[in-house]
Order: sequence, then C-alpha cells, then structure tokens
Amino acid sequence: MKQQLEQRLQRLRTTYNSGLTRSVAWRKEQLQKLQQMLDEHEKELLNALQEDLGKSSAEGWLTELGFLISDIKHTLHHLNQWVKPKRVRQPLLAWPGKSYLHPEPLGVVLIIGAWNYPLQLLLSPLVAALAAGNCVVVKPSELSPKTAELIERLLPDYLAPEAVHVVTGGADVASELLTHRFDHIMYTGGGRVGKIVMHAAAEHLTPVTLELGGKSPAVVLADANISVAARRIAWGKWINAGQTCIAPDYVLVDEAKHDEFIAALKQSCEAFFGDDPQHSADYGRIVNRQHFDRLKTYLNDGQIVFGGEFDGDDRYIQPTVLSDVDPASKVMQEEIFGPILPVLKVKNLAEAINFIQERDKPLALYGFSNSARQLQQLTEQTHAGNQCNNDTLMFMLNPELPFGGVGPSGMGRYHGKFGFDTFSHMKSVMTRPFAIDPNFRYPPYTSFKQKI
Ligand code: NAD
Repeated sequence: MKQQLEQRLQRLRTTYNSGLTRSVAWRKEQLQKLQQMLDEHEKELLNALQEDLGKSSAEGWLTELGFLISDIKHTLHHLNQWVKPKRVRQPLLAWPGKSYLHPEPLGVVLIIGAWNYPLQLLLSPLVAALAAGNCVVVKPSELSPKTAELIERLLPDYLAPEAVHVVTGGADVASELLTHRFDHIMYTGGGRVGKIVMHAAAEHLTPVTLELGGKSPAVVLADANISVAARRIAWGKWINAGQTCIAPDYVLVDEAKHDEFIAALKQSCEAFFGDDPQHSADYGRIVNRQHFDRLKTYLNDGQIVFGGEFDGDDRYIQPTVLSDVDPASKVMQEEIFGPILPVLKVKNLAEAINFIQERDKPLALYGFSNSARQLQQLTEQTHAGNQCNNDTLMFMLNPELPFGGVGPSGMGRYHGKFGFDTFSHMKSVMTRPFAIDPNFRYPPYTSFKQKI
C-alpha cells in the first residue's frame, strides 16, 4: 500500500508542478464536471445516503447534494474575482512602486471527511481546494461505506485523475496517509483524531484546518416565541437523527417557560415524524452499533419526558427529550451526536452565559429571544465558532459567513471565499522600478542621513 500511495502522490505532485492546476479555465472545468457528476448520479448518491444513514431523499438533497450544487455555482460565479491579485497601498518610504496580494495555490492537499454528511463534508472542501488550484487527495469516512464506495468509483470518471485521487479505508489507511507530506490538511471529525492529525502534520510543518465538534447549546429566553423556537430546535436536532456537528446538543430554557417549551417540542416532533418515528420515511438511523450503544447509555442520565424507545437491530433511537439532567452526568459532559436532547432550566440569561462560558467553546451557539439587546449580550459575552439567533443550522446556507470552530471545536474556516482563502497562500508582492534610487538608505549612515 505504502509504495502504491507514494506513486499516486508523486503523480499528483508532478501534475501540480506542471502548472496545469494554475489555469482558472481548468479549475472551472473541474468544478463543472463535479456538478455534472452530482446531477447525473443524483439517485445513486441519494440511495447511498439512505443505506448509510437512513437519510430520506429530501433530507439528502437539502443537506448534501443541493448544498454542494449551490456551493459549486457560487464558486464558479465568483472565481474570476477571487483569483485577482488585490492591490494595497504603497508606503511613502517605499515609493515609487506597487504592492499587492497574489493568491497562489498551496500544492497537494489532503481532505479527510466524516461520516455524518459524507458527501457535503468531503466534497465542499474539495470544491474550495480545486477552486484555489490545488491537487487533492480525498479520504471519505469508512463509517459511511456505501457513499465512500460510490465516491471512489465516480470521481475518477469526472475529475482529472492526475490531479484528484480518492483513498478509501479506515484508521490504518488514514494513519498511513498522514505519514506523507502534504501542503495542507483539512480534517473533519472528532477532537481525538484531530489531535492525531495535528501531531502528524507537525512532523512536516503542514498547516491544518480542523473542523471538529463539541456541545452546541441553545438558549431559549422567556420572551422568545416558544412554539417557533421549539419547532426550529426540533428540526435542527432531529435532522439526520441528531448526527449533525452543529445540532443543538442541549437546551438552556428560562425556567418559567420550561413546561411550555417541552410541550411544544413534543408537538413538533409528532408533527414531523408522527406517533411512531421508526416508521417515518423522514427519520434517520444511527450510523452503526457502536454509536447506538454509546447513545443508549445516555437515556439513563435524566428523566425521559418523551421518546426513549430504541431498536438495536434497526439502529433506531426515538427522538428523546431528557429533563432533570445533572450537568455532571455523561450526557452533559460528552458531545451527544444523536437524537437525545437534554433540556435544563436557567433563571435568566446571565446564568445561561455562565453555564456556556464554564465549558469548552462550542462549534455553534443558538439564542432565542425577541430582544435584540439580550441576543447581543449573548454574542458579546460568550465564545462560539458560529452563532445563529432565533433559528438553528440555517447559517450554513450563507456562503458569505465563514464556517469553523474555535478552541476545542476547531481551527480554520471554509465556505465560499473563506474556503478559497484556506486553500490559497496570499503571497505579498512588491515591485519597484529601477528609476529613482536615492542613496539615503544605503551606508555609510552619515550623521546627516540619520537626521532624515
Ligand atoms: P469519523 O469516525 O468518520 O472520523 C473522521 C475521519 O477520521 C475518517 O475519515 C476516519 O477514517 C479518520 N480517522 C479515524 N481514526 C483515525 C486515525 N487514528 N488517524 C487518522 N484518521 C483517522 O468521524 P467522527 O470522529 O466519528 O465524527 C464525529 C465528530 O465529528 C463529532 O465530534 C462531530 O461534531 C464532528 N464533526 C464536525 C464537523 C464540522 O464540520 N465541524 C462535521 C461533522 C462532524
């Protein structure tokens, strides 16, 4: 394996050094072909997502294929602008001359994807890396095998094989990949492996972008529209059966609205998935037995207000709400990454802010209130990778907003121009004419020159 991989990487490096990927026309062609692949194999791709995660076609389209197609369109639309050098001011001391920033590709980059959105989280970084003119190795997650197999089969038929290479396999393959030198690594997944990736990258002084996870809180204040807040939280939590890195992990609700909020959550859940979510075409499955077993243990960490049923043979866990949860319990210490939602009471915004600030900086933070002042306070007095007010997940749809974590929830960012920048080096360039060459900066530094 080692030798074969070495040859593949050498091939990518030769391609990169040939200058092929510097051509903007080539980059656009690759992006168009990627879009063509998504169009022509839409059904197969949606089926693979269904097999891996029980994702309905509508959900697969909304969160994966449709997302990627608009990502490609946005990139194609703006690429001419993004690649343009950006002129900056020339200081008087270096006059005459001109200064500018020249975006250049990084070289051969590695993208390691996660299983929960196996298309989006692998191919959206690929869009950014290709747009920036890199050669790319993509490594899909082994935990969504049907999607990984399909990507391995389809990508070489559409993208230039001398510039894009797919490597499939598990931790052993990923570890082997990481022994090689790349010019950038983007990893999406949990923090434990994030540390392994960063460690391996340090050996080659390779920069990394780490898209990690964590416990993303939702804060529901007394003046919020409780039924809309509950509906939007229910949607963001139970989409993909809670296996979304930015899903609300737990809720801090004003104690006066606790019961009303729980009742509204239950109502939304029934409206989405009926009385028996196991037989709803719109409700997904836990990715594998290991995650199923892990999630099941959380059901003992609080009082089950609704939900709580499960079926191991079907990898099914019902949308579940827990109350009376001890903040020291496992369900409040670990990222849940599944359909279980602890709801905790708080007295006011200040208590919610303290609760959040005592914990790791989350990937996403959701505030629900009719008061702009209170939402502003939440923004100013907390840390989070991203914040969305009075809704969940929707900020992902805006390519003008960078997506990424902070502290333990990750480092670096992408989406839209931010992705292009992540996979580019902004080279600073200053050019001066030969004419006009006063000698005041050259030695000997006479006392007269020092006075200037
Ligand atoms: P995972 O198990 O799919 O692992 C991610 C990738 O790491 C896979 O490609 C896997 O092969 C690779 N990997 C596993 N072990 C490795 C090793 N020892 N060395 C090198 N690579 C290795 O994903 P996961 O960790 O179960 O994903 C869940 C986590 O990811 C959650 O914490 C979630 O919040 C986070 N996540 C973050 C984002 C984001 O965009 N920030 C998106 C999705 C998931």
